[in-house]
Amino acid sequence: MLPTTPTTEFEQSLNGELATPQEVLKWALEEFGNDVSLACSFGAEDVVLVDMLAKLTPNPRIFVLDTGRLHQETYDVMDLCRARYNTRFEIFTPDGTDLQSLLSEKGPNSFFASISNRKECCHIRKVEPLKRALVGHRAWITGLRREQSVTRKHLPKVEIDLEHGGIKKISPLADWSELQVWNYIKVNQVPYNALHDSGFPSIGCAPCTRAVKPGEDIRAGRWWWESPEHKECGLHSRKA
Ligand code: SF4
Repeated sequence: MLPTTPTTEFEQSLNGELATPQEVLKWALEEFGNDVSLACSFGAEDVVLVDMLAKLTPNPRIFVLDTGRLHQETYDVMDLCRARYNTRFEIFTPDGTDLQSLLSEKGPNSFFASISNRKECCHIRKVEPLKRALVGHRAWITGLRREQSVTRKHLPKVEIDLEHGGIKKISPLADWSELQVWNYIKVNQVPYNALHDSGFPSIGCAPCTRAVKPGEDIRAGRWWWESPEHKECGLHSRKA
């Protein structure tokens, strides 16, 4: 089932272009308290949101889906953020039994063989752990932006996420450009993933992410062997 837009007038007003990311985050913290978390993969947008949250509240809830296939650079920036913000990250890993079955039956590289195999791997390593991470939540925060892909061009800042029991899904940076993200990182000296300096605008699992050439789409390096309309891992299922 697909997410829908929120119904209250105030939540709809947050979707307006004038609501800054900090205003959206402040509203989310006041509205949901300890029942809202940031899903953080340590890409550029996520470290911006970690910095903003740390400036708004002393103990923001932030979780990480550690797929077991992340780049070393991602673990490095996780440690940098842990030290800089004195923040605890809740780590969710794939279910051990499911992962053992997948590896035993199809090997470590099954995702290259077909879209269904790739979605199976993403389901075990990302989608199912996300469901566990969101248990007890009334809302979650993402670093998604409309510019990132054809599948995200109508992304609202606040929506109802029917994939996860009708909780709110909040994307404070929905209308930000890549330039705004990098300006924020530079001005605020936010730690960021070193892979961004090597041509990786979007970072996921190591075997499924590569650098892009100048002028290429910013998500061209994710699952580069697939066509653009398939380039979602199941964490953010919605129509464009
Ligand atoms: S991005 Fe690749 S390695 Fe990571 S979960 Fe998806 S298919 Fe598996």
